[in-house]
Amino acid sequence: MTQSGNKVVIFLGPPGAGKGTQAERLAREEGLTKISTGDILRDHVARGTELGQQVKPILDAGALVPDDILIALIRDYLRGMNAVRVIFDGFPRTRAQAEALDRLLEDLGAPVTAVPLLEVPDELLIERIVERGRQAAARGEPVRSDDTEEVARRRQQVYREQTQPLIDYYETRGHLRSVDGVGTMDEVYGRIAAVLH
Ligand code: AMP
Repeated sequence: MTQSGNKVVIFLGPPGAGKGTQAERLAREEGLTKISTGDILRDHVARGTELGQQVKPILDAGALVPDDILIALIRDYLRGMNAVRVIFDGFPRTRAQAEALDRLLEDLGAPVTAVPLLEVPDELLIERIVERGRQAAARGEPVRSDDTEEVARRRQQVYREQTQPLIDYYETRGHLRSVDGVGTMDEVYGRIAAVLH
């Protein structure tokens, strides 16, 4: 990938597939900005902003925050950029968000470059999420309030109902790149890099 010009990568995949970790490395190595809507929302919750107070119960329940909130957030974020060189992690999550993102990107003259889909079997996902919570606790770090088994199951269900349809959405447009998400972090990263180059 070049270091200049627009580049828009959208990570798709269920909660627990490893999108955040892989997106972070890709951002570092390719000189892109990672936009993780989950991180942004959790930061608002931690700071106790008005938005944070509004969305906290939604995050705790493993449900989705309303589309208009997310779309406004992303619009503000993208408008502040000179070159649009971004990786989306956790956005879009609904068809309305995907359509709004397409419109925003069109206005900015920055079309979607590719959409890697991290595929991990269902039975591994809950295990990974619960393990992530356990490891954060062991390191003395804050544990995500939605990394419990019960909320993780709810998040998988929400993914299947609301976000999985985006696989078709991006496949139809020729952007989808399926990646086997089972393996070491390096193995999975290698596969992602291969489909992007
Ligand atoms: P994540 O860190 O991507 O797993 O997101 C954590 C939580 O933040 C989700 O379970 C949702 O409650 C909320 N969230 C993050 N991104 C979005 C989005 N694009 N649309 C709606 N809710 C979101």
